[in-house]
Amino acid sequence: MPTRSILSATFAIALKTATAFAVALPLLTATPTVATAQKGVSIVRDAEIEALVRDYARPILGAAGLSKSNIEIILVNDRRFNAFVAGRRIFINTGALLMAETPNEIIGVLAHEAGHIAGGHQERLREQLERAQTMAIVAGLLGVGAVVAGAASNSGELAQAGAGVAAGGGEFARRGLLGYQRTEEVTADRSAITYLNATGQSAKGMLKTFQRFQSALSLSGARVDPYQVSHPAPRDRIANLQTLAESSPYYNEKDSPTLQQRHDLMRAKIAVFTQGQAAASRLFRGERGGLAATYAEALSAYLFGNPRTAITKADALIKAQPKNPYFQELRADSLMKANRPAEAAEAYARAMKLDPVKSGTLQVGYGQALLATGKPDLVRKAVGELQKGLDRDRQNVAGYQYLAQAYGQLGDEASAELALAEGHYYSGNYQDAKIFAARSQMKFKRGSPGWVRAQDIINYRQTGKKKK
Ligand SMILES: [Zn+2]
Repeated sequence: MPTRSILSATFAIALKTATAFAVALPLLTATPTVATAQKGVSIVRDAEIEALVRDYARPILGAAGLSKSNIEIILVNDRRFNAFVAGRRIFINTGALLMAETPNEIIGVLAHEAGHIAGGHQERLREQLERAQTMAIVAGLLGVGAVVAGAASNSGELAQAGAGVAAGGGEFARRGLLGYQRTEEVTADRSAITYLNATGQSAKGMLKTFQRFQSALSLSGARVDPYQVSHPAPRDRIANLQTLAESSPYYNEKDSPTLQQRHDLMRAKIAVFTQGQAAASRLFRGERGGLAATYAEALSAYLFGNPRTAITKADALIKAQPKNPYFQELRADSLMKANRPAEAAEAYARAMKLDPVKSGTLQVGYGQALLATGKPDLVRKAVGELQKGLDRDRQNVAGYQYLAQAYGQLGDEASAELALAEGHYYSGNYQDAKIFAARSQMKFKRGSPGWVRAQDIINYRQTGKKKK
């Protein structure tokens, strides 16, 4: 688990603890910063990766009759392989995305998960997950991982430590995520093949993933993937899956070159951010000069090197793909780091224009850059952009910090404190959220929209229904 986390528009990592949120507060630019979340629990926010995983999932969920708008992608910052679907939310570890060589491997796993949902497996658990706050689930997952590691290594101590964390994360973590029945696995495999066939895709990737987990070696290693434990893959199941997969007319179907390239770019990004440039170089060895390798170099320059180098490399990427919103975003992030916020704002605006899914993250980046100019009229504009970005993406914890700063600069203390309350609320720190909400309420006019929202936060009961 990497302890370094970077709060930037490119790859903002939302941190769970009150301290982490407070530590992050003074940050204005995309400067990498060290902040260790309690127990290392973190989620990753990134417009590019979220959009890609959503594109992987959409046809499959459609074929499974699970199409719902506004699918949320939760990227869990964890090197191990894990993925599951809970209602409108898809949880997936960055480790799983990094391990998968093709989009098809991830699409296959999503198809298998959709099969579990359609089959009504673990219905009660899923209802609990549906109601639970994202961060509580992520915290629970970490506990599950520890339990799994303890069980596999026969270390009672470790298993107990894991159980403790899981109890804090909720009942679902302690019980449910550990294990589907073997019959359920067979059903999910069959359903997955149906969805893959319906969308003209191969089951080769899914087969490859489960074959990897079948290897006995992988269970005795230091790292145990939670997915491997929750989805038992005995030899006969894999053999059946292989027969089914190979009998499909689409078995040799490949991902489109465009999708494969987006996948490679995503892997480059995850490798650089979680393991550094060396890991990305290993990944794209022999492909120097290729788009993914260049992207890795540019991201690495942005993160660890000279922002001017990053800007030059981003310009080269933009020349190769002028319509790629995320190359514009990298350029914008690099300009922020080079302390050129006005140009950064222009680049974010271009990224937003090119982004087909209108990600809130990019709009928050735009607002952040406007704020950083320090010009009163642009700070006022920043408030509007940040609000709109947060309306699209309520979980963007970094966005509330910038919003609070913008209101602070404009002398609107009540709104600044309410923004801080929201940030704590969506980080799962209800106690701090209520403190800031109460403080803001004293400054708002009674019954005004700000006052009412503050009251909602004050009234929130963690065990009760989720408020949006
Ligand atoms: Zn399964």
